[in-house]
This record gives sequence, C-alpha cells and structure tokens, in this order.
Amino acid sequence: MSKGITITPLYSGSSGNAILMSSEQTHVLVDAGMSCKKLVEALNAVRINPFDLNAILITHDHSDHISALDVFTRKFNIPIYATGATWRGIHAAEKKPHSPHLDNEIIPGTKTPIGDFEVLAFDTPHDAQGSCGYRFESEGHVAAIATDIGVMTPVIFEQLRGCEGILLEANYDNDMLWNGAYPYYLKKRIAGEGGHLCNEDCASTIVKLCKSGTKHFILGHLSVENNLPQVAERAVLLAMETEKLVRDVDYTLRIANRYTPTAPLWLGDPQ
Ligand SMILES: [Zn+2]
Ligand SMILES: [Zn+2]
Repeated sequence: MSKGITITPLYSGSSGNAILMSSEQTHVLVDAGMSCKKLVEALNAVRINPFDLNAILITHDHSDHISALDVFTRKFNIPIYATGATWRGIHAAEKKPHSPHLDNEIIPGTKTPIGDFEVLAFDTPHDAQGSCGYRFESEGHVAAIATDIGVMTPVIFEQLRGCEGILLEANYDNDMLWNGAYPYYLKKRIAGEGGHLCNEDCASTIVKLCKSGTKHFILGHLSVENNLPQVAERAVLLAMETEKLVRDVDYTLRIANRYTPTAPLWLGDPQ
C-alpha cells in the first residue's frame, strides 16, 4: 500500500458503529458496535484478518460503540485504547474480563503513537463520560472521525480543520425528529448539548471545513428513525451549493452504509 490514510466505514449508525482506519502499515478500528460476528464478517468483506488489527479505539461506552468489544477482545486479543472514564463503562459492560494488558488509557489532547499512526483524541460533548473523537496522522496525511456530538465545539472544529478527509456525524433531520414518534424527553436528549449533531449543523460545519481546505467528507451515524441518507445528503449539498461549492470539483461526499462496508476513502499520495 502507498503512503496515506484510508477510511473504511464497516457499518455506521445508531444501530452500531465500526470504522477501519488504515495507513501503509497499520490497521486500527474506531469503535466495535453490533456483534463480534457482524464485525468479523465486515472485516472479512474488506479482506482484513481481525488478528492484523493493531488496536481498537473506543469513542465512548454507549452500546452502539462497544457491544462487539467484549467477545471480540477475548477472541482476538487486540490492544484497546479509551479514555479513563470510558474504561469504567467498558469494564462495567463486559460479561467476562479480558486480559488487562490489552487496556490502554488515552488522554485527550496528547498524541499517542499506534503503528505508523499518531492518534489524537479530542473531547466531544455527549451524554457519556469521557466521550471523544479521534484525529489520525500518518506520513503527512491527516484524517478524523467525529460522531456523537451534542454540539460542534471550537475544540472539535480545531481538530477537524486541516484534515484531508473526515467522517462526521449527520444524526438527525430536525423535522423528522420533532414530528416523529419518539417521546418528548428522548427528542430533547437527542437535540440537546449531550446528544447528537443534526444534518443542518453537520452541513454548516462541512461548509466551513471545505473552505479551510478539507476535500473529502463521509456522513455517518445516521439515526434509523429520524434521518434518511438522501435527506442528510441533500442538507449538505444545499449548504454547499449556497456557497458555490461544487461536488466532485471542490469536494467529495459519501454516506456511510448502516449495515455493510462503505467504499474506502483513500487520502494519500497519488498512485
Ligand atoms: Zn453515544
Ligand atoms: Zn452512537
């Protein structure tokens, strides 16, 4: 493989999340939702042997991000990285303990080398203690994953700025959420500062990022109840058109599939 970073969402959404980040020599998983069986199937589909993973990075302890972790870890013994508060949630959720030498604590704001990646965790406002996103650098290339964001903060934006490619949450459409079937308390939770990012806020963030040099965007973590791929896509396209930014000229946009691997996004030296 040539120098660069590849983002391959294995599956993404409120139903479960796992994203493969690959560099020339390193494969890292961000989150391990759904089930061990589904995760192995998805890795097989993109021709990655689970034993070849260098690490699993966890963003937070909600089940759509860790439900495969317990069984997967005991089967494949891959080192895990998470913030201290997230570790408490992971340990509370696991049915049987795994080998403690796999546990690594990641400190937001501090770079951690994993293979030929430099990984930087950054705090995200979400109703899970220790919640974070991740920025990856390898051989001069930069990419980031940011989901489960109640509100876009300057801290997050600073870490996304300058990335070549980003997977960003587009969780819900405001009309679908507020006219939908969820109970009021849940609607407030999702739209609140500890909830998720709506399509419109995702779109305005993407406009700003595109203007500051980011070229490649993947929308992820769509709600199954309160969003549709074409609705999220339209929100971004409209915001970009308003700013005269042209798809496939000024930027590329794809939507991560909910249940199956999405075409890899390659960010790197020309091949
Ligand atoms: Zn969450
Ligand atoms: Zn989530």
